[in-house]
Amino acid sequence: MLINIAIDGPSGAGKSTLARAAAKQLGLIYVDTGAIYRTVGLAAKRAGLPLGAGDGVVAMLPSLEIDMAYDGEGRQRMYLNGEDVSEAIREPEISMYASDVSAVPEVRAFLLQMQRSMAARGGVIMDGRDIGTVVLPGAPLKVFLTASEEARAERRCRELREKGIECTVGEVLRDMRVRDENDSNRAAAPLRKADDAVLLDTTELDFEQSLAALTALIKEKFGL
Ligand code: C5P
Repeated sequence: MLINIAIDGPSGAGKSTLARAAAKQLGLIYVDTGAIYRTVGLAAKRAGLPLGAGDGVVAMLPSLEIDMAYDGEGRQRMYLNGEDVSEAIREPEISMYASDVSAVPEVRAFLLQMQRSMAARGGVIMDGRDIGTVVLPGAPLKVFLTASEEARAERRCRELREKGIECTVGEVLRDMRVRDENDSNRAAAPLRKADDAVLLDTTELDFEQSLAALTALIKEKFGL
């Protein structure tokens, strides 16, 4: 059985922080698929496309070269036409562009193979919105990670501040609601829990407790 773990859930649920930490602890590779959608979102913004410009985004796709690599410390880096955009894609404004372009079916199709090939040899913890339902429906372990809206907005705002990006919890909550609404209601691969995913609600758990819960699920499933 290939060790592949699919983690999905709404924004700010702690998917990336937890998946990265679990991967490090267990010697697995962490793949952040949101970063790939963010890279397309950044390209759309740089091309001067407004939000909702589905056809314009589709027209832009053939000219995009998107690459992913890992640096010496195992951190995922994203490249857009050869330029390292790993920091640029974290700007709050890009979150909305990412959510916008991710509703375009052609964008999802364009990125599907890239994501699947990352997991082809196993040993991967991949997080996103449709990993358990579309990208890796055969993953032996699927986790749907969630927390209350307030907890998610507070955590996301803290994370942004740590990166030196100013925010208020109210602002983050507003943006998050729009994104979650888009992500859950789009026709193409909407955010939803796979039927066979384990639900992990971290509202009442701190980081260490959430990590322990996630790694326990992984160890139990794969006998690690
Ligand atoms: O995970 P992150 O917040 O970085 O993702 C940015 C956006 O990319 C999400 O709001 C979602 O619209 C989109 N996304 C997606 N499918 C994935 C990962 C991210 O649609 N597998």
